[in-house]
Order: sequence, then structure tokens, then C-alpha cells
Amino acid sequence: MTIRTRFAPSPTGFLHIGGARTTLYNWLFARHHKGTFILRIEDTDEVRSTEDSVTAILDSISWLGLDWDEGPVDETTDRGPYAPYYQMKRLDLYRKCVRQLIDAGLAYACYCTKEELDAMRKAAVAEKRPAVYDGRCKKLTDRQKAEHEAAGRKPSVRFSIPETGETVVDDMIRGRVSFDNRLLPDLIIQKATGGPTYNFACVVDDHAMEITHVIRGDEHLSNTPAQQLLYAALGWTPPKFAHLSMILGPDGSKLSKRHGATSVLEYKTAGFLPSAMRNYLALLGWSTTDSRQLFFGSELVETFDLGGCQKNPAVFDQTKLTWMNGEHLRKLGHEELMRHAEPFLKAAGLAGPLDPPLDLTVGLEGEKCKLLADIPGRVEIFYKDVVFTPKALDGVLKKPGVKEVLLDLAGLLEGVEPYGEKALEEKIRGYCEAKALKTGQVFHPLRTALSGRTEGPTLFGMMEVLGRAKSVGRLKAAAALL
Ligand code: GLU
Repeated sequence: MTIRTRFAPSPTGFLHIGGARTTLYNWLFARHHKGTFILRIEDTDEVRSTEDSVTAILDSISWLGLDWDEGPVDETTDRGPYAPYYQMKRLDLYRKCVRQLIDAGLAYACYCTKEELDAMRKAAVAEKRPAVYDGRCKKLTDRQKAEHEAAGRKPSVRFSIPETGETVVDDMIRGRVSFDNRLLPDLIIQKATGGPTYNFACVVDDHAMEITHVIRGDEHLSNTPAQQLLYAALGWTPPKFAHLSMILGPDGSKLSKRHGATSVLEYKTAGFLPSAMRNYLALLGWSTTDSRQLFFGSELVETFDLGGCQKNPAVFDQTKLTWMNGEHLRKLGHEELMRHAEPFLKAAGLAGPLDPPLDLTVGLEGEKCKLLADIPGRVEIFYKDVVFTPKALDGVLKKPGVKEVLLDLAGLLEGVEPYGEKALEEKIRGYCEAKALKTGQVFHPLRTALSGRTEGPTLFGMMEVLGRAKSVGRLKAAAALL
């Protein structure tokens, strides 16, 4: 059996952390098992669905580096053997299935108005009964139906849920969860407008698209018994279900805007790497037996399986994500680093080819660079003309003897061979000894003259990366100011 998974977003907003995790798990599971990953746009909410949301969702998934085999190409077109992948283009199929259920006596027209339904709910609450639809339209005679029609009422269609017994969902993560049928309302499968509801269209499409595994957020577990009954009523075998753990914020409440950014594209803007996001999201509800934390390249695809998914809630921890981003940043080769950092460098006025190469300057900063957005501020000293702060100029450089030291060092650097960290340290320490100067009397002005700053990366490493010509030039320029 080829595994077929899908992510089925409703385009009513951005792709959030929870949706991104669902997409990732579906993608990982499909890729791990050499299956097929499908995107389906569930745009049946005529009021809240927008093309902008489709764009944002597709952009977010693409940015995360998750490719899909079937589904939308853009906001209106799609490709794949089960097209269309936009639900609003599949209305005929839903209508046909609604007809099938009505003909089999498993669904019925419901003429209740919103006011009637509200009153029914209130009465149930007052009498401490479960607030489920009481099934009154199921018993309508043909005459009563004709009266409603004549009065201009547009019916919705409800699916009859058995009045007794229980429905058991055998979930791959939750295990067996049983639902009392008496608490399941007769589900609306077709709205009075004629469009399908989510719960119905989802079942019809998962069957039509031969989805083998439905992997989705825990909020859909309560929809599953009715969906399972629909499969049975339509004579279909249901897919396997796996409901992922809830994601909580650090304070233990469900992750929301209150906890900071929840939209995936905000993470892109803030300077996170797709590979770090994938790594972090993968661990929100899944783990290996040895609790491994870091996964690079194809390691997640190789390792991930549903067996490692937990049902306990996962806590979203931005500090851990940021740490992880630093780990991924330091794994990037030069070209990849340039590609990811480019928008951030441009915004900081560091466009064009960089000399010295960016991986060297970022490498010098070590763990201090965690986000792409940290990079320009950390490395600009290598690329921009030195600007001295008053603290650097007055506090460090304008001291007796500094000019002479800088000029001596400029001369010394011309002769250091090979021009590298080790030889530089040896020569400059030798200079301190020969002149009977404390290292601080030389190292501080040297660092300040080279970078304009009083702190930064390791001094001799910085000199090596800066190169001989730039280093000598900067020392002479600083001396000229004194
Ligand atoms: N359209 C639903 C949502 O966005 C999909 C639920 C499902 O995966 O079945 O929540």
C-alpha cells in the first residue's frame, strides 16, 4: 500500500505554528514511507476563505521546505490525478454523496431556523440535558415538508447518527477513544446555501483522494466519530487517524497570539531558518527513544515515524527554538548562508559580494549569532568603514603612546608570515615584551583601531579574517586621527 497523507487547511488566515507542525508531520510520514503528500484547500467557508490566505499558506509551506506531490500550484490552479484540490470546485461530488445518503434514509432535510435551534439549545441547558439537536425534522411528514418549502425555508441536510450505542475511534496516537452516540448531534452535511460542511467534504475527499492516514490537530478528535459513521454509511473504509498533541505556551495555556508570534512567516522575518523550524516543530509532540534534539539534512525524514508521537501536550519554547536556530546556522555552507542571510544583509546596507567571505566572519562570532537577523550587526565591522564611538576614541585611542603603538603594529603586520592567527599572536606578544608594554596596553587600542569597538570576536582571529591589507590600512587611518 502506498501511503497517502494530506494537509487540508481552511484558508481563513495565516499558517500558524500548529498548522505548520501538522503539515510537517504529514510530510515527514509520507516521505519516510516513500508515500505521497497532498495539499487540499478546504475553502468551503464562503465568508472567511480568502485568496490571500491561500497565498500565505502556500508561501509558508514552501518556505518551510516542504514540497507537495499533488495540490495547488497557485491560488486558483492545481495539479494531480485527483484534481481539483480546491473543495469549492468539487461541489457536484458532495451533492451526489448527499443524495446517496438521503436515498438510503441515512440523511434528511432539516428546516429548523437559527432561532428554533437556539431555543432548543436553551431548553436543553435549562433541563440539564445534552444540548444536541433533537432530531425533530427527521420525523416530518411530506405535508409538513411541503409547508416549510412553501414558506420559503431553505433546508440544510443532516446525517442521522445512531441514537444509542457508542462509536470507538482507534487512534494511532491516542489509542481507543469511545464516544457516546447520544452526545453526537445529527451532523449537518449540507448547509442551507447548498455547500457542504467541513466534516462532510473532508470525508468525501479523503475517500476520493485515497488518503490512507489522516494526521491532524487534537481539536479534530471530536469530529472523528461522526466522520467515521459517515464512512460506514457511504460504504467506505475509513483511513487511519492520528491526532497530534496540543501545543501549549510556556504558561500552560493553549498556544496563542498572547505568547508572541504564531504565524510561520513571522519566524521567517525574525531570522529563523527553515531547517531549524522543521527540527523544532518535529519535536513538538514527537521524540526518539534517546530524546535526540538535533536533526540536520535528511535525518528527520529518516528517523520520523508516528510511533514516536506522544499524546501529552507539547510546550512551545522560543528560547529552545532560538538556540536550535544557532546550531543550524553554524552548519550552513557558505552559499546557503549567503542565500539565507542576503535579505538581512541588504536591509542593513551590506549588499553585494562580501570580502572577507561571510562564513568566516559569522564563524568568528560563534554562538553569538543565533538568528539571521543577528548577523549584520555582528559582522558589519568587517565590511563597513570604521566609525569610532566617543568611548572608543576618547577612552581608548586618545591615550599617550597609542599612536606609536598603532604605527609600529602597522609596520609589524607587513612582515608577518604566514598572515594568520597563530603567527600574529606570537609576533604581537613578542612586540609587547620587547617594548615592556602590558598586553592590555597593546590589545585594547589594536582592537579598537581595527573595529571601532571595544569588544568583539577573538582579536587575532579577527585580524586573520580581516586580512593584512585592511588591517594595516585601518591601523594607519586610526593613527592619523591621533
Ligand atoms: N480544514 C480543516 C482545518 O483547517 C482540516 C481538518 C482536517 O485535517 O481534517 O482545520
